[in-house]
Amino acid sequence: MAGRTSFFYFFNVKYKRIMANKYEPTIGLEIHVELKTKTKMFCSCLNDPLEKEANKNICPICTAQPGSLPVINEEAIHSVIKAGLALNCKIAEKTWFERKNYFYPDLPKGYQITQFESPLCFEGKLDGIKIRRIHLEEDTGRLMHKNLPAGRQGGYSLVDFNRAGMPLMELVTEPDIHFAEQAKNFAQELQLIFKYLGISDADMEKGQMRVEANISLNMGTKVEVKNLNSFRSVEKAIEYEIKRQQEILEEDGKIEHETRGWDDAKQETFSQRTKETSDDYRYFPEPDLPPLDIKPELIKKLAAEIPELPQVRRKRFEKEYKLPALSVDILVNFKYLADFFEHTVSELNAWLKSGKIKTDIDRLIVLSANYIITEFPKFIFENREIKITPENFAELIYLIFIGEISSSGAQEALKEMFKTGADPSQIIESRNLKQVSNRDDLDKIAEQTIKNNPQPVEDYKQGKETALQFLVGQAMRETKGKANPEVVAKILRDILTK
Ligand code: ADP
Ligand code: ZN
Ligand code: MG
Repeated sequence: MAGRTSFFYFFNVKYKRIMANKYEPTIGLEIHVELKTKTKMFCSCLNDPLEKEANKNICPICTAQPGSLPVINEEAIHSVIKAGLALNCKIAEKTWFERKNYFYPDLPKGYQITQFESPLCFEGKLDGIKIRRIHLEEDTGRLMHKNLPAGRQGGYSLVDFNRAGMPLMELVTEPDIHFAEQAKNFAQELQLIFKYLGISDADMEKGQMRVEANISLNMGTKVEVKNLNSFRSVEKAIEYEIKRQQEILEEDGKIEHETRGWDDAKQETFSQRTKETSDDYRYFPEPDLPPLDIKPELIKKLAAEIPELPQVRRKRFEKEYKLPALSVDILVNFKYLADFFEHTVSELNAWLKSGKIKTDIDRLIVLSANYIITEFPKFIFENREIKITPENFAELIYLIFIGEISSSGAQEALKEMFKTGADPSQIIESRNLKQVSNRDDLDKIAEQTIKNNPQPVEDYKQGKETALQFLVGQAMRETKGKANPEVVAKILRDILTK
């Protein structure tokens, strides 16, 4: 799973390298992430990636009116430092911004304010992959092209500057990656870390995280692949590119130094532009912004704000809750689920301590984890806003555990709890979901079932074991799922083998 550094992980790296020994792939990633700050990078316009109305969040600064001056957004600086600390980077003591000069209609100033010589963070590491640098820059606007059918005049392009000047973090890895899945896992783990840090939602489908992959074979000419807007396309595009380059080399061809795009429909890369000469952006220090000194006190303060990160959390979950690795991965990879799970556990622990419940807490913990993993994703997917509280969920788990409610009853109760946030004992009461475990009542149910189903009874007596399952099913149906199936089975067996 993502981010796991185990023997098998490295074995896998080695193995895939040996398999591809003739053409060893080398991959380096460049990843842009839109930061979730309140305002834009150099002005006080709202940083709202969901704004639908074009050119709503703009001002003289982010549209480059003459005489306007940028001001550095401190929150963005703090976010990048946190990312750097989480990724084991060094943090620059002195840092500044540069102008990267080029013309494009989505770039109102004719240059982008970015960092070139002094990235905020550098020399980091994640999952054995070195991170060269993480720096801060501003995003561009967005172009919309209205193309008319071939041969017709009058097409046009519109530009929306809402995105212009949004804070953008760029992370560059060393070429340390050797196969497609490793690149995908790395990008996924990065996304998770940014979510845990709360600095970005990093949703690839929404363009909040954009991955570019550089791929070469045997350290030869590298090709850059752009517009990868899902983790799946990161993996597929790299696989495709390795194969494409391999086929060229096998026929003694030459790899073109170029930028390629990814066609998701065709599942192939295509040439966008060749790079005969390297671009000259004429970087120079941004004269309108002061250089920054990053003080050790600031770094200390930001480090203290970093929450427990996924890798540490996975290890702790395995140890503390004795859950299998797969369950841990699912929980930790969906922060909401992991947080909910931990709230539930602390609730159960509090009850245990206060004497409200007396039971084996480890089994309650496993039961909670299993219910969260199997039941929550469906509801989250359907309802979006879910109203269930960990307190009520803990109570439901306890009621399942002591047999007050059957698993089918629990499903029904959960559904209601997600929608209304109601208390499980109230739901059990109002919907009459209480499981019948009382011996006298179940005896009656069993006898009724035997009376109503003479043929299956006969089959069971003849040794057909599955007939008993059928009878239990009938008993459950007659009681609308409220009979405790294990007890019913036992009673039926007792009566029929007497
Ligand atoms: P350039 O100067 O051509 O932009 P850089 O050295 O700045 O190249 O690296 C840009 C990106 O390309 C980085 O993510 C880096 O890891 C990756 N990269 C560098 N060399 C290679 C290579 N031989 N194969 C694949 N990726 C590479
Ligand atoms: Zn603005
Ligand atoms: Mg470069």
